[in-house]
Amino acid sequence: MDAMGTKGVLEYLGAPPLTGATGTRGQHWLRREVGDVLWLVLDRQGASMNTLDEAVLAELGALVDEAAAGHWRAVVLRSAKPSGFCAGADLAMFQGLASEMELVTRVAEANRVVDKLAALSAMTIAVVHGACLGGGLELALACDRIIARDDTTLGFPEVMVGLHPGLGGTARLTHRIQPIEAMKLMLTGRSLPAGKAKGLGLVDAVVPERNVGEAVRAALAGQMERLGSGAAAGALNLLPARLAIGRQLRAETQKRAPKQHYPAPHALIALWEKHGGDVPGMLAAEQASFARLLPLPETQNFIRDFFLRERLRANGKGKSEVRHVHVLGAGVMGAEIAAWCALKGMKVTLEDLSTAAIAKATAAAHALITRKLRGADALHALDRFVPDPTGHGLRHADMIIEAAPERMDLKRQILARLEAGARSDAVLATNTSSLDLAQIAEGLKEPSRLVGIHFFNPVSKLELVEVVRHPKLDPDIFARAQRFVGAIGKLPLPVGNAPGFLVNRALMPYLGEALLMIDEGEQKERIDAAAVQFGMPMGPVELADQVGLDICLAVAETLAAGLTVDTPGVPQWLRDKVAGKELGRKTGRGLYDYGSDGQPKKERVGKAPDAAMMVRLILPMLNAVAMTLEEGVVDDADSADAAMIFGTGFAPFRGGPIHYAGEIGFEKVAEALEELAARHGERFRPSGWWRKGG
Ligand code: NAD
Repeated sequence: MDAMGTKGVLEYLGAPPLTGATGTRGQHWLRREVGDVLWLVLDRQGASMNTLDEAVLAELGALVDEAAAGHWRAVVLRSAKPSGFCAGADLAMFQGLASEMELVTRVAEANRVVDKLAALSAMTIAVVHGACLGGGLELALACDRIIARDDTTLGFPEVMVGLHPGLGGTARLTHRIQPIEAMKLMLTGRSLPAGKAKGLGLVDAVVPERNVGEAVRAALAGQMERLGSGAAAGALNLLPARLAIGRQLRAETQKRAPKQHYPAPHALIALWEKHGGDVPGMLAAEQASFARLLPLPETQNFIRDFFLRERLRANGKGKSEVRHVHVLGAGVMGAEIAAWCALKGMKVTLEDLSTAAIAKATAAAHALITRKLRGADALHALDRFVPDPTGHGLRHADMIIEAAPERMDLKRQILARLEAGARSDAVLATNTSSLDLAQIAEGLKEPSRLVGIHFFNPVSKLELVEVVRHPKLDPDIFARAQRFVGAIGKLPLPVGNAPGFLVNRALMPYLGEALLMIDEGEQKERIDAAAVQFGMPMGPVELADQVGLDICLAVAETLAAGLTVDTPGVPQWLRDKVAGKELGRKTGRGLYDYGSDGQPKKERVGKAPDAAMMVRLILPMLNAVAMTLEEGVVDDADSADAAMIFGTGFAPFRGGPIHYAGEIGFEKVAEALEELAARHGERFRPSGWWRKGG
């Protein structure tokens, strides 16, 4: 058992170490008797964070059976891990599961354990800290009282992996707290700090570690009331209320997560609507619904996405030495990169020629930081963000990120100056989207110090960061860049120095095709609708405006010049727009016009988009990803899938472009591309990668 955890548990037990005669250790649980109180302490073997799987639950089941046979005044659940109580189910056990029938049996088995815990005649108390999520929260909800340490985060993130709670959580939560709040919590997957959870009645007490013992004693003495929302919860769980609320929830959810792609939240609404008035009925129906959701391809793909994220996260693991980041360029990207780094604990100095740009960036940083952090944390982050028009921070920084306009001469000139002024051990990075890194590096005294750190727009939303190699790059600088990206909570993807790297290379044919469709007279709103219908978070026309038409043009030109394959070509009117400073969202006008809320002004879609449009937009994107694999720009298909999901929002329920292509069949994809090539031109010529079997 972890030393810190043991100490935490023992402090308020006032008992000798758990290795003493009265404590027994199973594989994942510690059992300890203190007078007439039985402590069951979760300490999953070989893991730094507790998760639930069948073995953990089976062992708990045996302990609960034994508890039921004894005469305990109370049974207290706790965790021995400093990281938290329990982060939920171990998702590995949900991958590639068998038939729905088998699932029903296994889900029922797991639920029997939790139901037995809920049915114990002894008082049950969950003492939770850190992460108390998903199945972990369901264990706590099966207890009579929940005591949360003040660092606890509680929630049901299941919808994010295409599920809803499956260990009784839907029924127990909607009857413990006000059901609308309960449903919103489960439908959004968001988590709550302990104080907010207490406000909702989800936990009964919030205490610092030193007062946990006292809180347990108060609960034992009957001096801790169960909060919850009593009568109000009862009334809102009646059928007429459920039907009215359900209708509203369904409409809201459909806008955010359409049923055909995101079945889980809709299944959850249906479950509560139908069974919300009857706890045993809802418990049973929850199991059936969960077992139906689990084998769906969408759910399996969401679970796949979870592991893809872990895969990228592993690229950035290890301690980063970076404490101070100097960002050059306070435009769209530099401003957000700087704000994000300050938010994530770095000292940041932000330099720009334009003081107006720095002022705007400072206001935006203030907005981001105060949205994401509270109290002293927000104040400290604001303190770490330093506007630096004279570039004073350069000589102190560990990491220097250049985010100036996308011009080779300018970048070379700026980076030469940065190199001269920086510490000799600082990492020099460029956020270029399209320029040849090797050529930029040649302008430096030590080209080995320059790495590409390519963030995506908007930085605060997109998790992916491409970390770009070039032949002269020092491997240590490359490793430091990846660890830095990991340290600011982003997902690093190593890529080769090829035009557009991976993500822009894949996006450009998709954006380019959309522009050609506009040229052919297609309504731009309809083009966007086709992509959204496929599952993209926004259509290509809106995306081009968001990225900036100047950046799109630069990337398109780099790709056209640097690739041996055909690209869609850039219409003259796009060049005219860029020349006329109609650059998209950032200038209030681009392919769309923008209101003061920063949203595009769209007309109604005339005719519903058809499948042919969707195919013409999506297949070139898949083909470009295949080319990057063929050329070794990215290491493997899973990394490419991960990059497209976390860098572009590629329909997450499809598991990534190559996974999706694999489901269609690579040969069929190649044939479809050939048909498109015959109809529209050589730019659709399939990559050789499809037929080499991937
Ligand atoms: P931007 O035009 O919004 O900002 C550039 C900033 O650099 C401006 O504030 C400008 O005043 C400043 N600047 C220009 N010359 C300077 C100098 N000599 N010294 C100091 N500051 C100077 O550009 P952006 O969209 O933020 O792009 C910056 C970089 O990031 C480019 O390389 C671009 O390719 C890349 N990028 C952009 C996006 C995107 O979506 N916009 C995404 C990823 C990467």
